[in-house]
Amino acid sequence: MVLDRLQRPLRDLRVSVTDRCNFRCVYCMPREVFGPDYAFLGRDELLTYEEIARVVRILVGLGVEKVRITGGEPLVRRDLDKLVGALRGIEGLKDLTLTTNGSLLRAQARRLAAAGLKRVTVSLDSLDDAVFRAMNDAGVGVATVLDGIAAAREAGLWPIKVNAVVKRGMNDHTVVDLARYFRGTGIIVRFIEFMDVGATNGWRLEHVVTGREIVEAISREFPLEPAEANYRGEVAKRWRYVDGAGEIGVITSISQPFCGDCTRLRLSPEGELFTCLFGTRGHDLRGLLRSGASDGEIEAFVAGLWRGREDRYSELRTAETAGLPKVEMSHIGG
Ligand code: SAM
Ligand code: SF4
Ligand code: SF4
Repeated sequence: MVLDRLQRPLRDLRVSVTDRCNFRCVYCMPREVFGPDYAFLGRDELLTYEEIARVVRILVGLGVEKVRITGGEPLVRRDLDKLVGALRGIEGLKDLTLTTNGSLLRAQARRLAAAGLKRVTVSLDSLDDAVFRAMNDAGVGVATVLDGIAAAREAGLWPIKVNAVVKRGMNDHTVVDLARYFRGTGIIVRFIEFMDVGATNGWRLEHVVTGREIVEAISREFPLEPAEANYRGEVAKRWRYVDGAGEIGVITSISQPFCGDCTRLRLSPEGELFTCLFGTRGHDLRGLLRSGASDGEIEAFVAGLWRGREDRYSELRTAETAGLPKVEMSHIGG
């Protein structure tokens, strides 16, 4: 086990497999910036699945228990099930999951499950079709994502979580509908405060609807009570329906930051490590991987990086830091 300067162990790894996406969510990849001329990474810049699997195996040796595959949209990268298959076999890896916008799940859920994926998180910001289309800006309707969720369920991917980013003036009026729809289904909706990630999404504090406001709005219709965290470092705060119809989560990175428990490391598609979601620069691992370094050398590099880590951006956030250059969410995957 390796601890950082704030005594936090390395437990989770988020692997972004691509910087591309078939959506243009306004809060993540606004079309004005991510247009036809945007320079996405080239194929040979990406880590191969073999390279990713090697990194994961080494990091499991340093304490990583959970891996989340993300992007961009992970399902736009070819044969993602092959990566799932390679990661599944790694001894000591306890949890392997995937975050997706759901649009390609109908086509891929069975292959992913057959490769050994156990569960998925699907992003869906609203059940109101006009609102959802305005948010993804890619002409994809709610029905496509709900069908993707159904496909995941049929394939045995379970439990399923739904992520919804809440942006004031955009979808905040549809939060209670989302809660109502998934109540009693076993699917947990997690409402995420709109974050100042990257430098392109025009974030302003006024756009943030706090977790507290969200819980209050839902509670007025369906009373909620706080539930204990499942484990230390759990990102979402849990709230349970008093009538037993399940639970929701709120991810309050703006109003109640949780850096003290942050055990997450992030790997970008081209093999850079980020010790914080709000990092300004990554640490190149691909160069090391492609220079013939041994497993021991790679392990020592990552352990050194983690030991020096003192990030706690969300706890230090000010109006000034919100405007600093930062890596894009679509690059390192949330
Ligand atoms: N494309 C996949 C998806 O949308 O699920 C995976 C990558 S996406 C970057 C991961 C998560 O980050 C999604 O649930 C998305 O809603 C969330 N996200 C993106 N930009 C955000 C922002 N500015 N604030 C809060 N969450 C954001
Ligand atoms: Fe794509 Fe996910 Fe970002 Fe939306 S949130 S643009 S689906 S990467
Ligand atoms: Fe972790 Fe950085 Fe987010 Fe704090 S701001 S919770 S250190 S990723």
